[in-house]
Amino acid sequence: MDDAAPDAVPDAVPAADPTPHGERGIGELVAAGERSVSFEFMPPRDEAGAAQLWSAISDLEPYQPTFVSVTYGAGGTTRDTTVQITGRIARETSLRALGHLTCVGHTREELVEVLRAYQQAGVRNLLALRGDPKEGPTAPWTPTPGGLTYAVELVELAHEVGSFSVGVAAFPEGHPSAASLQTDARVLADKARAGADFAVTQLFFRPDDYFRLVERVAARGVELPILPGIMPITNLGSLRRMAELSGATIPQAVLARFDGLTEPADVRRVGVEVATELCEALLAGGAPGLHFYTLNRSRATLEIFEALRITA
Ligand code: FAD
Repeated sequence: MDDAAPDAVPDAVPAADPTPHGERGIGELVAAGERSVSFEFMPPRDEAGAAQLWSAISDLEPYQPTFVSVTYGAGGTTRDTTVQITGRIARETSLRALGHLTCVGHTREELVEVLRAYQQAGVRNLLALRGDPKEGPTAPWTPTPGGLTYAVELVELAHEVGSFSVGVAAFPEGHPSAASLQTDARVLADKARAGADFAVTQLFFRPDDYFRLVERVAARGVELPILPGIMPITNLGSLRRMAELSGATIPQAVLARFDGLTEPADVRRVGVEVATELCEALLAGGAPGLHFYTLNRSRATLEIFEALRITA
C-alpha cells in the first residue's frame, strides 16, 4: 500500500547524469550577462522531418547557442519524441538542451514521470508551460482531473523533482486570455517567485511591446531575464496562421512591406530584413539575448545572423 501523502513527489529514481552541460543552468548563464542566443525546434512527424531537424541542428551548432529547445506537442502528443530528441541533443551534441513540458492531459503523477524521464535523459533545463486546451488557444481552459491548473504549479513541481533550471512563457502583448497586461505581469512575477529563473516570449513584432513587458515585471520587484522570441517571416500564409494561434499582432507597417511580393525569395528577403531590424532594436535596448523560432530550418536564422554579424 502506498502511504505517501497524495501530493508528495515519489522517491527519486537516482537520476543518471549523462549530460555534459549539466553544470550551469540556463537561468544562471543568462543572468551572468553574456548575450544569449537560442533556437527552438519541434519534434518531427516523420523520417523526412527528422532528417530536416538534425540537419538544422548541425547547421546551427557551430554558433554555440546558449541552449536549444524542443517543444512539447499540443495535448502531450509528442511526449516520448520530445524527451528522446531533447535527451539525444544533450548527450550527442555540444548543445545545452531545454525540454518543454505542458500540463495538458497529464495528471500530476504523469508530469512527475516526464520530469524524471528528462532527468534520466540528461536534460536539466525545462520550459514549464500550462499548454492550451485541445480545442485551441482561445477555448476555455479546464485542467485535467488530478493535474495542474497553471504553469506556476509546474514550476514548483519541477523544483520538487529537482535539479532543473526552469524557464517559463512570457507574452509581450499579454496572454490572449489574460484579464489585463498588469494581470499577465503579475502571473509572470509569480512564476519567477516560484522558482522560474528565465522567461522566453511569444513571437511579437513591436520592440516596445517587449520593453513594456520587461518594465511591468521589473516594477513588481522581480529580476527575471526575459528572452525575446523571434519568428522570421518566410511565408506569409504560415505567419498569419502562427499569429492567429499565438494571439500576436502583425503590425500594418510590417504587412505593408510585403505588399505586392509574389516571389517566395522576395518574401523571405523582406522577412529576414524585418526580423533583423527587430533583433537590432531589442539588443540595442538591452534585451539579454535572442530566441529564434526555427520551425526546424536553419536558413532564415543564418541569414539574420549574417546581417547581425554574429559569426560561428
Ligand atoms: P500560465 O502561466 O498558466 O497562464 C495561462 C493563463 O492563465 C494566462 O492568461 C494567465 O494570465 C492566467 N493565469 C495564470 N495564473 C493564474 C492565476 N493564478 N490566476 C488567474 N489566472 C492565471 N504550448 C505547447 O503546447 N507546447 C509547447 O512546447 C509550447 N511552447 C511554448 C513556448 C513559448 C516560449 C511560449 C511563449 C508558449 C509556448 N506554448 C507551448 C504555448 C503555451 O502553452 C500557451 O500560450 C498557454 O496558453 C499559456 O501557457 P503559460 O505557461 O503561459 O500558462
